[in-house]
Amino acid sequence: MSTTDWTRRTFVKNAAAAGVAAAAAPALLRTRPAAADAAGTLALEKIALANARVFDGRTLTEPRTVVIDNGRIGVSALGARTIDAKGATLLPGLIDAHVHLEDVSTLEQLTGYGVTTALDMACWPPSLMNSLRHRTGLTDVRSAGIPAVAPGSLESQLPGFPQSELVTGSDQAGRFVAARVAEGSDYIKLIVDTPGLSQDTLDALANAAHAYGKLVMAHATSSAAVDEALLAGADMIHHVPLDIALTGTTAARYAAGRRVSVPTLTMMEGFAALGIPGLSYAAARDSVIALHQAGVRILAGTDSNHKQGIPVQPAFGTSLHHELELLVQAGLGTVEALQAATVLPARSFGLYDRGVVTPGCRADLILIDGDPIADIRATRNIQRIWAGGIEYAPAA
Ligand SMILES: [Zn+2]
Repeated sequence: MSTTDWTRRTFVKNAAAAGVAAAAAPALLRTRPAAADAAGTLALEKIALANARVFDGRTLTEPRTVVIDNGRIGVSALGARTIDAKGATLLPGLIDAHVHLEDVSTLEQLTGYGVTTALDMACWPPSLMNSLRHRTGLTDVRSAGIPAVAPGSLESQLPGFPQSELVTGSDQAGRFVAARVAEGSDYIKLIVDTPGLSQDTLDALANAAHAYGKLVMAHATSSAAVDEALLAGADMIHHVPLDIALTGTTAARYAAGRRVSVPTLTMMEGFAALGIPGLSYAAARDSVIALHQAGVRILAGTDSNHKQGIPVQPAFGTSLHHELELLVQAGLGTVEALQAATVLPARSFGLYDRGVVTPGCRADLILIDGDPIADIRATRNIQRIWAGGIEYAPAA
């Protein structure tokens, strides 16, 4: 711990004891985000956030008090410092269900836009991924680690991709999944493409992942790839086709198999804008319309990345707000869009300690001006952010 860290902590603690933290702490957090605190010993101030209209998953409540206590949503305001929210809207911290983390700065950008949980869908080496876990006061992450990729594919040629982990056939499935589990991957990601991993290999990988109790994520950006992903039994299918929109029949297959869709419309919009013949954003948007009409669970994900060799790089954090707007334009209601970035990803990934503002859950919260149910763009008007109960200064 550096002298500066020690001084800052001591000051926050003493200021709190002297009753001046209300004025001093936010200013300190603004100049010095909690990011630097790897030891996790930042002062966790108890706060009673009064007069907040809370998004309860369906509607905004009448103004009420929410307690932030030791990193969690508390029950009693006793001994808490009160902050008057003045009728502003309190949302659970947002969840981005598709990012590619790069370094601590990507976590800081996510946190600064109220994205307090990020689900990484391919990151290597494992030492980098694991170094981004459990960063007190910053976005909390889960990751697929190294994805299953066929030799010769686009992904296999990305800089630094570990060539020893390429999957050459179904006989490699057990080894591949065991290695990911040993490294700490939270779920298993398959790159489904034509040409790419064979159906046999996809099936074997999905079976191996399920045998370890891991969810299977499939990358599929064409109708043919979606068919393969569905056949393999992927739990979540990321992206939507840019070639031909999903049909009602295919959407019904998602629904019947309780498959979850993470359309990443932000990324599909970016790719469509490259002007590649045969690819159109309309196919992506119409696919979401079909999935929504079929009652398929849809999660908000952006594909934010800084990967060399990827021509479209949605910005971390801010692009999740754009994704919510695109989902609404593709037919989701505003409440459904908010659910797609809060309670639904929490449930789909088994993260039952977040996604809702309920006592006992992580105090991942964003306080915003306006009513996002009336206008989804209101999620951008962030006043204050708490990640695991620690306040973080909004990026803009
Ligand atoms: Zn991706």
